[in-house]
Amino acid sequence: MWIGIDDTDSPAGMCTTYIGAVLVRQLERAGIRVVEARLVRLNPNVIHKTRGNAAICIEAEGDADAAFALASTCVEALAEFDAAGTNPGVVVSRIRPPPDFYYAALREFCTVDEAVEVLEAAGARYRGYKNRRGLIGATAAVASDLPDRTYELLVYRKRENRGTPRQVDRGSLFSAEETTYPHTWDTVDRENDVVVCVPHTPDPVLFGIRGESPAWVEEARAHVRSEEPACEQVYVTNQGTDAHLVPGTVGMLREGRSYLVRGTVASSPATGPGGHVSFLLSDEGDEIRCMAYEPTKGFRDVVRKLVPGDVVAAAGSYKGGSLNLEKIGVSHLADAIRIRPPVCPACAKRMTSAGTGKGYKCRVCGERSREPEIERIERQLKPGWYEVPPTARRHLARPLVRGVPVWEQALLQSGRECDRRPRKQP
Ligand code: ATP
Repeated sequence: MWIGIDDTDSPAGMCTTYIGAVLVRQLERAGIRVVEARLVRLNPNVIHKTRGNAAICIEAEGDADAAFALASTCVEALAEFDAAGTNPGVVVSRIRPPPDFYYAALREFCTVDEAVEVLEAAGARYRGYKNRRGLIGATAAVASDLPDRTYELLVYRKRENRGTPRQVDRGSLFSAEETTYPHTWDTVDRENDVVVCVPHTPDPVLFGIRGESPAWVEEARAHVRSEEPACEQVYVTNQGTDAHLVPGTVGMLREGRSYLVRGTVASSPATGPGGHVSFLLSDEGDEIRCMAYEPTKGFRDVVRKLVPGDVVAAAGSYKGGSLNLEKIGVSHLADAIRIRPPVCPACAKRMTSAGTGKGYKCRVCGERSREPEIERIERQLKPGWYEVPPTARRHLARPLVRGVPVWEQALLQSGRECDRRPRKQP
């Protein structure tokens, strides 16, 4: 059976992954064998999310009525029911629903009625509390299909410590990263000298280690010195897989969806208020604005090196008319030139403009010229992929250290529409 849970926390506390970890232990105590614990991230642009739009699915073997009773009791005991935006959902299904609903919740927007339709068709047990919105995430989690997967080991705090500053030894986190990278990632951001894996929110998570296998996240975890934890759970996840991205074309992007889109840089990147960098990307007469926000730090320097005419593939969510960049692939570099007034052949001084459309004039000897000096500038950028630093990375974004998927590389190189339809489960 598959047990789904979502929407149990509020900005003031709790975390659905913690309830998942508690439930795993309760199921095992009740003689229900846990096969897998899954942490699924859904559409990052959903406005109702508390933080990272996570939902949980536990695959287990045993009595479904007992599992449903345990899951409901666990949620009723731990969820932040008093918070206005907390609307828990609990699902237990003996049949795994087709993955279409998962892909819809990951890449689009869904309704509670659509979730209920899926649950009814699967003959699932389900309970939605308050406005029942959590059924969307809980249903998506049980329907999830992870053709690409990563792992996260989450360590939780003891109740008495929650709300106090987290005690996690910084040096031990850097040593964990140094010893296990690239098999684990995003524990720290070495370039910006920042710890990434310890949250600052008032939830029960102490820290989380992300990596390619349970063995690697456990190896990294063994390096970490911290306050005594309450419990730990290794989750299989869709984090770091780019599962949210679909191929897009500049003229056809829809609000709140995430894309990889190829086009030609159509304006010189400009730094605006707050240090955000933007440029226009064009394709077949359509244009969108691409944004590299201030928190993406050094990634903005890469973006600033683009010039009009470069051919790139840009990945990110389309929100408010802009594509918010998560990474960028550069396939063709345009010739960069600088146009300046020529040097006077008579007195070797640089001329100045003689007025619009009037060419150039030497202010020393009066010599005139119509042609400017065109200087070819050496490009500071190489073709290839560039990403935001770990400190600015979204949960679903695939770190370059994991490689670039074939469909993304194909789209960068040829702009070819790639098949990214969800694979049907057998
Ligand atoms: P938590 O740790 O509790 O999971 P969160 O940041 O993941 O916190 P939630 O509190 O779960 O956010 O809130 C997200 C809400 O949005 C849930 O009710 C979930 O069912 C719903 N939701 C998730 N994906 C979609 C979607 N694609 N369309 C509509 N609603 C969605």
